[in-house]
Amino acid sequence: MLFNESYYRDPYLTDLDAEVIRCSPEGSLCGLVLSDTIFYPEGGGQPADRGFLRTENGEEIPVRDVQRNPGQEVVHFVDAPLEPGTPVHLSVDFGYRFSLMQNHTGEHIVSGLIHRAFGYENVGFHMSDVITIDLSGELSWEQAMDIEKKANAVIWKNLQVDIIFPKEGDEGLQDFRSKKELEGKIRLVSIPDTDLCACCGLHVRRTGEIGLIKLLSLMKYKGGVRIEMVCGEKALSDYESKLDSNTEIKNLLSVKPHEVTGAVKRLLDESGEKSARIAKLNLLYFDMRVRELEPEDGIIIDLEEDLDGTEIRKLCEKLKNSGRSSVSAVLCPVSGEKDSFRYVIASKDHDLKEKAPDLNRSLKGRGGGSKEMIQGSFFSPYDEICKVLRSAFSGQ
Ligand SMILES: [Zn+2]
Repeated sequence: MLFNESYYRDPYLTDLDAEVIRCSPEGSLCGLVLSDTIFYPEGGGQPADRGFLRTENGEEIPVRDVQRNPGQEVVHFVDAPLEPGTPVHLSVDFGYRFSLMQNHTGEHIVSGLIHRAFGYENVGFHMSDVITIDLSGELSWEQAMDIEKKANAVIWKNLQVDIIFPKEGDEGLQDFRSKKELEGKIRLVSIPDTDLCACCGLHVRRTGEIGLIKLLSLMKYKGGVRIEMVCGEKALSDYESKLDSNTEIKNLLSVKPHEVTGAVKRLLDESGEKSARIAKLNLLYFDMRVRELEPEDGIIIDLEEDLDGTEIRKLCEKLKNSGRSSVSAVLCPVSGEKDSFRYVIASKDHDLKEKAPDLNRSLKGRGGGSKEMIQGSFFSPYDEICKVLRSAFSGQ
């Protein structure tokens, strides 16, 4: 890699005139090699640039992808072929590119500071909506927050970011970070007292341009940790969306912004207390149902509303344990669906596991369980379910 494309000479160049050198089919697209380019090809963890080529007749051709071929040429993927020799005007989507430059340089600062403080290597780097960095060792959230503070201090110092091509024997340039085995010409990115790293990506000229570095999360990953972070415009968007969500929550709870956590905790406590009270009332209700439901042909069939799966099971269990009938069935209609009922059936006398396939077949149902209890759904009218259950268990 010779690093002589225009995007390396000036990563801030948004427009350039060039001409088509070669055009070859690449799957459903065409691959163009140009006399020079400002389109960065995907590599070193940095995604390919976006933008378009404009021909002399004013036609704008979107660039779908940019990759380096095995011969190290930059290939621009477009929809239709262009003749070699055709002059083209290149325009990159610089908003997108600048955000990548902010994020990429921010990643150098964080990885460099961690390397200097803990000796860890960056063993995985990916940029999309957020940046992920995989480190070779573990870090606590408190340590990561300390790195974040130092990283933002590097931004506020507005340090110069230098690109260096070291020559053999260059003193002080030997101890650099590298994400992979290097061959050929080495390109180093240097941020004073922060990082020295071999990299083929594009970076801002001064750290102040990054604006802000915010670490979002930290999790254990492959013997080390994975950090998610955002920089610059992406950090601002992240702040905006979190502020919007916090504002919405505080308005719903009618509290001040800093009171949101306490208010949510109170709400959860209240909700827990209510759930406990509902469970207690349910038990009283279940006992009452056990006393008042009468068996018919040895089976109690109970129709309930608004009980969840656990509650239906509890009631059915109580009916079975009361010994008032040979079989107990609790049915609960599925709201909004016609002829659809959840069921739990319990018995001490019948082998329900054996009965379940026949019942499901007769009542278009599904489900199963143990010898003493089965559960599932029937998709038949209520009267039909009662008829089939009575007939299945009567006289036995
Ligand atoms: Zn880089």
